[in-house]
Amino acid sequence: MKVVHEVEKCIGCGTCAALCPALFEMEGAKAKLKGAAAEGSNMVLEKEFTAEEQECAKQAEGNCPVNCIHIKE
Ligand code: SF4
Repeated sequence: MKVVHEVEKCIGCGTCAALCPALFEMEGAKAKLKGAAAEGSNMVLEKEFTAEEQECAKQAEGNCPVNCIHIKE
């Protein structure tokens, strides 16, 4: 599984970091996907996610107001 964060679209609302602090933290006016690597203008984290991380990543994806978090199976 991988998580993609479209950094340019992020408005820094903090929802993802509140719902899923295991994977997201705030860094200035943007969220940061912890441990992610740059892929073009996106940040991508690809690894084996724990069940807990998968669940909270889905929460973050579903609640991001600008839909800039994407989970790819
Ligand atoms: S929920 Fe979306 S817009 Fe808000 S900080 Fe996270 S990635 Fe950015």
